[in-house]
Amino acid sequence: MKKWVLSGAAILNSDKTSERVYITIENGRIAYAGEKDTGIKDVIYTDGIISSGLINSHDHLIGNYWPKVGNGPYENWLPWDNDLKSSPVYQERQQIENRDLYLLAGYRNLLSGVTTVSDHIPHFVAEPFYDIIPTKAIRNYTLAHSISSFYLAWGDGIKEEYQKALEQDVPFITHISEGFDDETVANLVTLEKLGALGAHSVLIHGIAFSESDMDLIKKRGASVVWCCDSNIFMFNDTTNIKMLLDKGINVCIGTDSPMSGGLNLLYEMKFDMKYYRKKYGEELSDDTIYRMVTENPAKAFRLYDNGSIKEGNLADLIVVRDRGGSYQNSVVNAELKDIMLVVINGMPVYGNSEYASLFKGCNVNYQEVVVDGVEKVVIGDLVGLLKRINRAVGFKKEFPFMPVEY
Ligand SMILES: [Zn+2]
Repeated sequence: MKKWVLSGAAILNSDKTSERVYITIENGRIAYAGEKDTGIKDVIYTDGIISSGLINSHDHLIGNYWPKVGNGPYENWLPWDNDLKSSPVYQERQQIENRDLYLLAGYRNLLSGVTTVSDHIPHFVAEPFYDIIPTKAIRNYTLAHSISSFYLAWGDGIKEEYQKALEQDVPFITHISEGFDDETVANLVTLEKLGALGAHSVLIHGIAFSESDMDLIKKRGASVVWCCDSNIFMFNDTTNIKMLLDKGINVCIGTDSPMSGGLNLLYEMKFDMKYYRKKYGEELSDDTIYRMVTENPAKAFRLYDNGSIKEGNLADLIVVRDRGGSYQNSVVNAELKDIMLVVINGMPVYGNSEYASLFKGCNVNYQEVVVDGVEKVVIGDLVGLLKRINRAVGFKKEFPFMPVEY
């Protein structure tokens, strides 16, 4: 099918939902999204909720393994990294080829409805794998590992990387203020002095952000990525999320790698809601969370044709089971089994087995698997991957983010 239509109840953007939308998909993009039936014959009707695909704003794909390693709270990221790299779990992970770690990370994200993930790693490490993973990683970015003097030597230097980001109109991504030592606490001021704090800056963590740091972030138009589970695990603390939101800063949600952070983005959203309720005694609204995994990251990472359902945008779509409340509520509370369909660049890549005919119609090779007790179809060879991992480590390795029967 060169041209097909997905029809059902949909969240077009965080301000607009509709009970019946026809989304025409052609050449990987949304050619039409509206309430009138366009008369095209290949229509897939769904009783789920259609949404723009989810964006995971922070991950390290090569580090997608399990369980978590660490014995915090730490003062900054370095002693955690040392604990990680000297751990038996890390040794176990080292038995697996990088290609398979990337595939595992791709499937972990895909199964949770993530159509785009920000992989924080130097380009030369990751580039060989972006064409083989079943979800999309953001390819255009510049980066630093962090702002401290003990950073990993990623990129060409903070000033240079920020300059490149401006010239290419791509995000400059860095860990920042992740800990409590004097240098880490001063990270934001250091970044400003280097001339690298601006609308292109995507700031990961920000645990130590002060109110004046946040005022400067707002003034400069930078974005912040909140990785709450990872922060609580490593530092027993996280950024002042309420203050960030109250100041109107563009905030996104990331899982970080599952060796420190959330199992997947669905889990992370629930963790964040629970944390917020416990910390502030009030609810973080479904709508706020929804924006943090769709429109906000599209803005932060300068993905101008993503993050909402509108004509011209990439056809990155998910369908989730209708929970009966608001449409956003169905997305932010979805479990793995509730992800009914994932479409990336207009092609089906994962979904309930009832959508197998769509895969056939689009000439997508798929495998039948049972995920979280539900019969699904998925692009590529997920079972083969899991078997290769078992062979590499010498036993049947279970991942809670991948409850696949095989
Ligand atoms: Zn990270």
